[in-house]
Amino acid sequence: MKIGILGNGQLGQMALDSIRDLTDLEVSLYDLRAHSDAALDTFLASVDRVSYETENIPAPIVARLEPVADKLFPSLKALKTFQNRLLEKNALRAAGIATAEFCAVNSLDDVKQAVEQLGLPIVLKTTTEGYDGKGQYVLRSADDAEPAWQAIGNRELIAEAFVSFSRETSVIASRDVHGNMVVWPMTENVHHEGILRYSLYPCAGLSADKAAQAEHYIRQLADSLDYVGTITLELFETDSGLVANEVAPRVHNSGHWSIEGAETSQFRNHMLAIAGRELGATTAKYNAVAMINVISDEGPAEKAENISNAFRHSYGKEARPARKLGHVTVVADSVEQRDNTISELSGLIPDGVWKV
Ligand code: AMP
Repeated sequence: MKIGILGNGQLGQMALDSIRDLTDLEVSLYDLRAHSDAALDTFLASVDRVSYETENIPAPIVARLEPVADKLFPSLKALKTFQNRLLEKNALRAAGIATAEFCAVNSLDDVKQAVEQLGLPIVLKTTTEGYDGKGQYVLRSADDAEPAWQAIGNRELIAEAFVSFSRETSVIASRDVHGNMVVWPMTENVHHEGILRYSLYPCAGLSADKAAQAEHYIRQLADSLDYVGTITLELFETDSGLVANEVAPRVHNSGHWSIEGAETSQFRNHMLAIAGRELGATTAKYNAVAMINVISDEGPAEKAENISNAFRHSYGKEARPARKLGHVTVVADSVEQRDNTISELSGLIPDGVWKV
């Protein structure tokens, strides 16, 4: 079977790598940046199944997927829903999942109206193409309405009530064509300057109730869309329970730990799901795992080469400020051992960002 993936970044590459042993599955990646309609149509015609490593696919390309919608996994509906933060929030609500209060914003007057309706602070976001905290503005006073609209407005926005959370977490699952689902244990995710810096398994101190809530949420969401593939739900932890932030209709940076850390990785199960195969177990293989992003500079990751319980992944990308260049996974028998290894990898996590 031939599987084509739209996007040839690290996510597509790791998906391809995850099933190298399955020689009857042939994977090719399509470079969305070098797009031409003719090249895309040829690519789509040459494969049996199509998937994507990013939801940021321009509308003209999405339109060309319509005729091949029956071989696209996750579905066109899932892609369109999670491309747009308003549709996404509506889908979350429809699946019974808690979210921040929100409203649509299409003008400066709407921003002022949102302040009235939601109270302050408010997080204003572009409905499309936002990632790593880009296209966002936090309003702390009513006077921020105009600068916020100037900064990111003149296009469709969503206003969200500010969620006062204690930490950020995510839950990732894969669902097969028959509706069977497997769910990985959750991670705690720590961001810095809008970018994920590291994810930790286990999600320390998470109550059994909240873990069950997260699993229930992701099952409800995936079932509601008859979803096929790997799906990620980012959740804020609050005193009163988990509140959904956003969904990725794909594998996610916070799930990279599963390559070495779990019985089956998020990438492999994604590929198995879209190929119509049975999914693998998602249990963790170690008592403690960390995934640390390598950002801007690969230097600090080099130390991982000499540490037996650390695995370095380099994406082969040119260094640029704030760019994800790779990640390092640390596996350990205990949280203490994991954290000791992380301290040997000095410089990988910026000063003040490591939580311990
Ligand atoms: P997003 O791109 O939606 O994941 O937002 C980027 C980051 O902004 C999140 O990881 C949170 O740290 C923060 N954030 C986003 N939405 C909210 C919200 N409604 N309340 C509080 N913080 C938020």
